[in-house]
Amino acid sequence: MATPALNSQVQSLVAEYSVFWQFWPQFEQIRGERRLVGFEVELIGSHTSDLNHVDPSCPTCRHVRSVLLAIVDLMPGELTLSRNSFTYNIDPHSNSIVCLPALGNRSAVSVSIYVVWNRSNGQSFETDLLKEVKTFLNRWSIHQH
Ligand SMILES: [Zn+2]
Repeated sequence: MATPALNSQVQSLVAEYSVFWQFWPQFEQIRGERRLVGFEVELIGSHTSDLNHVDPSCPTCRHVRSVLLAIVDLMPGELTLSRNSFTYNIDPHSNSIVCLPALGNRSAVSVSIYVVWNRSNGQSFETDLLKEVKTFLNRWSIHQH
């Protein structure tokens, strides 16, 4: 659990960097049937409205990324569901800058967490897991885009 001081510091950075998240369901084709096997949650933040800002070595972009990564790192520990029931993988997309139409083509950095669950868990597990992820992000005042 993050301390209140860290919390408010991160929360002000979330506002400063206009952090939001996007949700990407991951499907697999199993015996001709398309099934949801997991999801990617991508946290995105940007420190500039300069459309020509594309500099992977920019220290402020690196800071935005480190804030996103700190938040994503906390996520798995905050999920109350059994850790054996899913696996996850965090990708800080270290050298890439994205350009987002949703942000008026502002340049931004992103960090993704990929969550894949074990086959047998069933629909309610998937729903519960998603609910927990949303609750976690809400607590940081990070909204879905
Ligand atoms: Zn930058």
